[in-house]
Amino acid sequence: MSPPDPALLAAAHERLYPNYRQPDLVISHGRGAELWDSDGRRYLDLFAGVAVSALGHAHPRLVAAISEQAGKLLHLSNYFYNETNVRLVQRLTRATGYQRAFFCNSGTEAIEALLKLARRHFHARGEPDRYHVIAFDNSFHGRTLGALAATGQPKYREGFGPLPGVRHVPYGDLDAVRAALTSEVCAVLVEPVQGEGGVLPAPPGFLAGLRELTSERGALLLADEIQTGVGRTGKLLGVEHAGVRPDALALAKGLGGGVPIGAMLCSEALAGALPSGSHGSTFGGSPLASAAALVVLDELEGGLLDAVVARGDQLARGLAALAERHARHVLTSRGLGLMQCLVLRDGVDARGVMERLREAGVLITIAGGQGLRFTPPLVIGAEQIDEGLAVVERVLGDLS
Ligand SMILES: *Cc1c(COP(=O)(O)O)cnc(C)c1O
Repeated sequence: MSPPDPALLAAAHERLYPNYRQPDLVISHGRGAELWDSDGRRYLDLFAGVAVSALGHAHPRLVAAISEQAGKLLHLSNYFYNETNVRLVQRLTRATGYQRAFFCNSGTEAIEALLKLARRHFHARGEPDRYHVIAFDNSFHGRTLGALAATGQPKYREGFGPLPGVRHVPYGDLDAVRAALTSEVCAVLVEPVQGEGGVLPAPPGFLAGLRELTSERGALLLADEIQTGVGRTGKLLGVEHAGVRPDALALAKGLGGGVPIGAMLCSEALAGALPSGSHGSTFGGSPLASAAALVVLDELEGGLLDAVVARGDQLARGLAALAERHARHVLTSRGLGLMQCLVLRDGVDARGVMERLREAGVLITIAGGQGLRFTPPLVIGAEQIDEGLAVVERVLGDLS
C-alpha cells in the first residue's frame, strides 16, 4: 500500500492532453466487479469503463484466450484472412441474424461505417443526392466528424465548425420524423436506449414506427447499439425488446470485453454498397480483438444473458425504491437491463454525488447532466448490487 506516486501524478497533469478531468486516483488492477487503487483501496465497479468491461476485470477465460492468441498471432491486417476473425464473424452473424460484418476498433468508427454504407448504397443506386441523415436530439454517436455530425448534443459539437448532412428531431417524435423524411434522406440513425443522453429507453412503439416509416420511404434504419448491444440490456441487441430489425447496426464497447473492437453488421442487400477499396481499417478484425469477442459471446450464450436480466431487474427495483425514499433529491429512475440511471432533481450537484460515492468506494458515471448512470460489468453478483445500492442510499441520506 502506497499513496499515488507524486511524480506519476505530475506527469499525468503536465503531459497528458487535458481533454479529460480525472481525479487524482490511479487504478492499478481489478477482479470481477472490483477495482483497486495504488493505495490498495477497493472500489465496487458500477461503470465498467463506460459499459465496456462486460466480463469484469481479469476474467480467467478472457485472460487465457487473449494470452494464447498473443502467443500465436496478434495482428495481420486485412490483406489475408485470419482464422479467429472468421470464427467470430460466423458467431456474430449467427447470433444476430445479420449476414455481413465489417470490423473496426471503436464505436465512432462503427458509426462512420454505417454513415458511409448508407450514402454509398444510394450512390450506387443512382441517387447521389440522397445523402441526408435523420438523427435525434440528445443522442450520442461518437467524436469523429461524421459521428459528431450525427450527435445531437451541443456540448459535444461546440467549436467544431459546420457539421452538415444530419437533421436532428426530438427522440420519440414519429410525426417529426415523418415530416423530415424527404426523398433526400438516406437513413435514420437511432439508439435503442439513449446512453450518454441520460439512459432514456425508446418510448413504446417508437422503434417499430421508425421501421415502418423508413421502409415506406425506402430509407435505411440504422441502430447505434454501441452501448445497448452485446447483452447490456438483457438481450443480445437492444432492438430485440421492440422486435425491430434495422437494416444495419453498430456495435463496440462491450463486444471485446475491454479489448478495442467495433463492428458494423448489415443485411446481404447492403453487401454491395462498400465495394473493395471504398472503406477499410488496418487494425479492424485483428486476431487479438476477435479472440476476446469470441469469449464474450460464448459467456453471453452460456447463461450470462439470463444473469443480466436478473441483476438488471434487481438494480432497477432497488433504484426505484431509492427514488421513492429520497424523492427530495431524486426525480426518477429508468433504464433497461444493466443500463440504469437515477435522475437527480435540478439543483442537486450530480458530480458532487458521484465524488461522494467514489469516496465511499463506488464508481459510477454521470449521463445527461443529472443522471447517476449504472453500467456495471455484466458478471456482477447479487450481493454486489445490494452493496452498491446500500452505499448510494447512505450517500443520498447524507445530502441533508
Ligand atoms: C460510446 C458510444 C459511442 C462512441 O464509441 P467510442 O468507442 O468512444 O468511439 C457511440 N455511440 C454510443 C451510443 C456510445 O455509447
